[in-house]
Amino acid sequence: MDTYKQDKSTQYNDMLKGFLAGGVHHNFYRTEKDFISHIVRGKGSRLWDMDGNEYLDLYARAGAMILGHDNQEYIDALKNCLDCTPIVDLGDLEYDVCRLINKYIPCADMMRFGLSGTEMVQNALRVARAYTGKNRFVRFEGHYHGHADNILGGWVYNRDYPVPEDRGDGVVNTKGRARNIMAEQSFLLPWNDMETLENIARRYGDDIAAIIMEPILVNGGGILPVPGYLEQVRDLCTGYNIVLIFDEVITGFRVGLGGAQTLLGVTPDLAVFSKCIAGGGVPVSVLTGKREVMQLYEKKEVVHAGTFNGYQLGLAAIKTTIEILGADEGKCLEVMCSRAAGIHQTMIEAARAVGLPLVVQGHPSCASFHCSERPITDHPDDDVYMRNTVIRNRLASNGIFTTSLSKIYPNISITDDDVAFFKARVGSALEEAKMIITRLSRKSVKSEV
Ligand code: PMP
Repeated sequence: MDTYKQDKSTQYNDMLKGFLAGGVHHNFYRTEKDFISHIVRGKGSRLWDMDGNEYLDLYARAGAMILGHDNQEYIDALKNCLDCTPIVDLGDLEYDVCRLINKYIPCADMMRFGLSGTEMVQNALRVARAYTGKNRFVRFEGHYHGHADNILGGWVYNRDYPVPEDRGDGVVNTKGRARNIMAEQSFLLPWNDMETLENIARRYGDDIAAIIMEPILVNGGGILPVPGYLEQVRDLCTGYNIVLIFDEVITGFRVGLGGAQTLLGVTPDLAVFSKCIAGGGVPVSVLTGKREVMQLYEKKEVVHAGTFNGYQLGLAAIKTTIEILGADEGKCLEVMCSRAAGIHQTMIEAARAVGLPLVVQGHPSCASFHCSERPITDHPDDDVYMRNTVIRNRLASNGIFTTSLSKIYPNISITDDDVAFFKARVGSALEEAKMIITRLSRKSVKSEV
């Protein structure tokens, strides 16, 4: 796209950087470098920035924006709530929302609301510890559960005693973490590897309160559980009195209103939802779970607090999102997935045409592309990661936003015209990417990424 300009966005961002650290709201901005664009308008799946560039939004605010940018039913519901509902602790939306979540989510006997995925994951771990009287939790390589000290990144140096430590580099390692917090609280294991998990449970099951995972590994690159794995983990948890937690912050409502637990037919003890359950316009998270665990809140044995928990605008957003997605038995999500599949196929063909290896893998509502000959089963290695990043940046400069970690997030307003928009631009993006990748692999220099 030779008309691509960034003058206004760059100027604005340069000014902003004086006040907003780094000129961005978080460390995982959509692209690593170069393509800072300040968006001023959105419609359906399209966005326009300050310079007038038009984009197809397959970033969707890190997956949260499931309804499209101008869903009138959603906007009306939020406006109506602001017009009519007082700002209170308890209003009259709770029952409808809880009933709807309970209807669709198998593990949701009871629930509590919050604002972010990070905070609800921490609440899930606390209630699991209280329920079992044990301390540690198990998590898995490549899975992301928020930015809290005890659960972010980490590296295992000793496979016999797989406690994670901060490696001191990479995007999810951070200075300032409480000392030893990861090693004291958790084990970090390879996912989809039942033998290793069984081994750890056999040796340390007495101290393991919870196993937490993304039931479909979206953040690690679009990897599905191997057949039978989730069922075996479920049995292991029951056998060792371990609370099984599904982090459905992404999969919740993207893969269907019942989440990954319905799609895959395995019910966890607790599950955390956020992002698109409230349509993406306002922040809400929900911890759902089995009655016997969630009752610890009722008995006041476990603290869960938060000034804005269950705020009425957020509840109105969840209610209308479920109603919109649930209309016509969830047909809109099916249509979204089939258009997304069209985009994936187009991308694979375009890559083949320019001689780049490319796979798209995972559930179509939250798949990832990888510049690799074959699907990845772990997380992308450094070379694949570098090539993915080049592609992502070239997609952005050609008017297509995807996410860091190469996820492609469609929304239900996606049209055939959007698929055609993608098709018209992906070829040149990949051609440019191919040139850069060839140059980088020759020079072994990664600075241009
Ligand atoms: N869990 C998963 C699976 C996520 O993808 C994220 C956010 N990307 C989180 C938890 C954390 O959610 P939040 O950013 O709302 O704190």
